[in-house]
Amino acid sequence: MVVILKPGFTERQLKDVIAAMEAGGVRVMISKGSETTILGAEGDASRLNQGLLSQLPGVERVMRVSEPYKKANRKYHPDDTVVNIGNGATIGGNKLAIIAGPCSVESPEQISGIAKAVQAAGAVGLRGGAFKPRTSPYAFQGMGVDGIHLLEHARQETGLPIITELMSPDQLPLFEDTVDVIQIGARNMQNFDLLKKVGRYHKPVLLKRGLSNTIEEWLMSAEYIMSEGNPNVILCERGIRTFETFTRNTLDLSAVLAVKQQSHLPVVVDPSHASGKAWMVERLAMAAIAAGADGLLIEVHNDPPRALCDGAQSITPAQFSDLMDKLRTLAPCVGRTL
Ligand code: PEP
Ligand code: MN
Repeated sequence: MVVILKPGFTERQLKDVIAAMEAGGVRVMISKGSETTILGAEGDASRLNQGLLSQLPGVERVMRVSEPYKKANRKYHPDDTVVNIGNGATIGGNKLAIIAGPCSVESPEQISGIAKAVQAAGAVGLRGGAFKPRTSPYAFQGMGVDGIHLLEHARQETGLPIITELMSPDQLPLFEDTVDVIQIGARNMQNFDLLKKVGRYHKPVLLKRGLSNTIEEWLMSAEYIMSEGNPNVILCERGIRTFETFTRNTLDLSAVLAVKQQSHLPVVVDPSHASGKAWMVERLAMAAIAAGADGLLIEVHNDPPRALCDGAQSITPAQFSDLMDKLRTLAPCVGRTL
């Protein structure tokens, strides 16, 4: 953080600003120019209060020069993080990780059938919702605990690690005992209490980007989880809300590049929620891999027109298998394996 002083500041004001900065735990470097005097904070400036400093007499402006996230920051952790999601599967590093499954677990036959099909096509994780964050309270809310048990059964049959969304901290002990990766959905990206609580557990966390959140806010949410002791965070770009209504959301592929530059955490892309349209999924998935994503989260349903949730954006197992073939051709072009 740097503090720029007003022309004509007094020695008393200078002393008070320095004292306020030092009280925040930093050393102060003074740079006196002919027109401007700048005070630079050296060390961890996270406890400095930008708003309070800018109110002090003699202060012209206060600017942040480094990112407010530390544990998620590539500056302090230059190597890519690789997250183990169970059964030898990893997300991050050279190997692309493709996770697939239905929006919601609906029945034993449905989830087992889809699990076997996506595994045969090369998926490394099974994603299915059991507790669903629906806009309408009258819409299908998911199978709840029964859905988790059906996911466990599908894991037994296929060996695929299971990923499902957590909405309430009350369910955390159950999730810790059953699932392999905890998904925090877009609507809960800034549920800071929930983030802190999953940070105290050890399961990897798939953190979706909020509907209208900036990249920095998203990384700060990752920081909440990591600052509690859980380093296993996977970021998921799932489209953001813009003025455009043709697609369900707007897929922000530049966010993949930005996050890969700013953070060491792995990033996957969810082209299903980003577009809301099954026919767009294949091309957006390929674009995401071309942009440098570490993997994908794809909604796959055996009978999309009859899906209880998100049928319009779900591809069939056969379409998923075609997509995987295309990704196998694409992967070496971006220096990845699949
Ligand atoms: C989902 O993954 O099914 C879901 C509800 O996603 P999001 O939180 O990205 O809307
Ligand atoms: Mn969905």
